[in-house]
Amino acid sequence: MISMEDHIRTRNSYEQAQAGIRHSDLSIPIIHNGKIRIQFAGEATHDRIFQTAVGAFLSGRRESDRILNDLKK
Ligand SMILES: Cc1cc2nc3c(=O)[nH]c(=O)nc-3n(C[C@H](O)[C@H](O)[C@H](O)COP(=O)(O)OP(=O)(O)OC[C@H]3O[C@@H](n4cnc5c(N)ncnc54)[C@H](O)[C@@H]3O)c2cc1C
Repeated sequence: MISMEDHIRTRNSYEQAQAGIRHSDLSIPIIHNGKIRIQFAGEATHDRIFQTAVGAFLSGRRESDRILNDLKK
């Protein structure tokens, strides 16, 4: 008999926020000497629709907007 587990390879593709941490906290960039150095995107960083592909997409757009706004300064 063929076991489906031998043929299906899946992993969870979403994160869960730990107690006391809001999803939006995960989107706070690392700033050094007044400049953004590291940014975070991905479904887990969206405050409302985490665990979704749309949340992941919107988080990428949020961070690209952040880059553009930072360049304008
Ligand atoms: C079975 C299943 C069904 C789903 N169905 C739906 C659905 O119907 N609708 C919906 O909206 N959402 C669905 N989701 C959730 C959706 O897939 C995720 O929310 C979305 O893919 C998250 O996108 P992401 O870019 O944040 O993360 P991911 O898609 O997980 O991308 C993260 C990437 O980073 C890479 N990576 C990880 N660590 C490292 C590292 N150290 N160095 C370099 N690369 C690294 C990974 O390989 C991966 O490619 C489903 C999820 C699963 C598991």
